[in-house]
Amino acid sequence: MTALAQVLMRRIKATGPITIAEYMADCLLHPKHGYYSTRDPFGRAGDFVTAPEVSQMFGELIGLCLAQVWLDQGRVASFTLAELGPGRGTLMADMLRAAKSVLGFVDAAQVHLVEASPILRDKQRETLAGRQIKWQDSADQLPDAPLFLIANEFFDALPIRQFVRDAPGWRERQVGVKDAALAFGLSDAAAVGALEHRSRDTSPGDMVEVCAPATAIMQTISQRIASHGGAALIIDYGDWRSRGDTLQALQDHAYDDVLAHPGEADLTAHVDFEALTNAASGVAVTTMTPQGVFLVRLGIGERAHALAKNLKGKALSSHLAAHHRLTDAGEMGTLFKSIALHPLGSAVPPGFAP
Ligand code: SAH
Repeated sequence: MTALAQVLMRRIKATGPITIAEYMADCLLHPKHGYYSTRDPFGRAGDFVTAPEVSQMFGELIGLCLAQVWLDQGRVASFTLAELGPGRGTLMADMLRAAKSVLGFVDAAQVHLVEASPILRDKQRETLAGRQIKWQDSADQLPDAPLFLIANEFFDALPIRQFVRDAPGWRERQVGVKDAALAFGLSDAAAVGALEHRSRDTSPGDMVEVCAPATAIMQTISQRIASHGGAALIIDYGDWRSRGDTLQALQDHAYDDVLAHPGEADLTAHVDFEALTNAASGVAVTTMTPQGVFLVRLGIGERAHALAKNLKGKALSSHLAAHHRLTDAGEMGTLFKSIALHPLGSAVPPGFAP
């Protein structure tokens, strides 16, 4: 049993079952035993690999996309360049390197990283050495200024609550203790105001997921962009409208039982892009676009071709495999989706449709 499992079982015995959101928050960010608080989980030796770790092309294209939006909106002299959940800092480093080719963009950027894990902050400091960076604990600490933002595989780490439709209302899924182990249970049925609209497209027994922190973050980001300009690109795995149980644990590149190793396995849930879109206000939100389509529109084919010219043997084959992995429908191309927020009436960011 993990150290965190013992902490949680003591707490549950003292004060009763906890929500999935409380469980997820402690598993990921408990100060002493949380998954992100205690390790760098990325790469082949870690538990999973993200798009910026697959290939430099991902960050380069995103950097150029945001730089083009900056040009389209009139090259504001100073703006916040923010990343939510920057992992190892690889994506931001690739963005800044590629965007150097757009005169003035990098000099006008004040880089802000929203990161909860002290270990990953250290890693980001190393990756981005030589660059002035500010770290923030949450998105609402970002300056009230023009905002150009990227969030890749960030929203999937935010705590969700799960509700099972019951004939008269909803039962919330909880984590309790049974036979000296953590076990799932359900609360009594109650009405849930935020789920009223889901009574039309669900039947008794169906599960839906709600992510309250995502709603709050979308409101913060859209307020900055509506007032001062900029854009936000959000990329994650998920789909339009939450349906069913998507909570999953990953350890050592394999699926794990969600309750088996709290604090030692990554926990994520699919992102509900409909909920993100509805939470944005005062800005335009693009159509949800599969990652593969987005990257192809940004020119990943041309970039892959240019890089391939200087590669041979193993380096060439791993570059071709990375291109495939980011864009192919059977890999990350379709499972991952993207949306962009931009000011009402401004040009739609490259790679997206209105
Ligand atoms: N964007 C990176 C990393 C994704 S993993 C990449 O694509 O490689 C999720 C990241 O979000 C990690 O850096 C993790 O520490 C951070 N994170 C998770 N929950 C967070 C929260 N509530 N607040 C701030 N950062 C968080």
